[in-house]
Amino acid sequence: LIDLELTKDKLVMRQFMKELVSDKGLAAYGEKEVRHNLELGSVETLLLSEDLRKTRAKIVCSNRSCDFTDSQTRTNASAPIGNCLKCSSQLTIAEEEDIVADLSKMADQSGAAVKIISTEFEEGAQLDKAFGGIAAILRYKTSHV
Ligand code: ZN
Repeated sequence: LIDLELTKDKLVMRQFMKELVSDKGLAAYGEKEVRHNLELGSVETLLLSEDLRKTRAKIVCSNRSCDFTDSQTRTNASAPIGNCLKCSSQLTIAEEEDIVADLSKMADQSGAAVKIISTEFEEGAQLDKAFGGIAAILRYKTSHV
């Protein structure tokens, strides 16, 4: 069964690599590009590395009379959140979830398939190292962010 899963992962990563070098423009990678395509509903298959360890946090201003909100992708729970762009008060995290859950939710909304890719083979390790652990095969070509 494990071999079968690995074979499926390999096939879908090979399809991504093929699209990447093709001029049809049906490959996207990196959080920004993939999030953009998820918002457009153009993702056919979302590829997430099993080694992806990030969270998506909803950020609010600690000043209660300030309405500033933002979203941040965090790689380290103890990394500084920063200060408000409007009033320079300290920002705080209002909600935080695993980025896999966050992106999978977006994928579900547009009917995209989600594949968690093993790093136990070359293309899978490449997804983690070269593409930030986040990539997509698209239904149609879109413009870059
Ligand atoms: Zn503020």
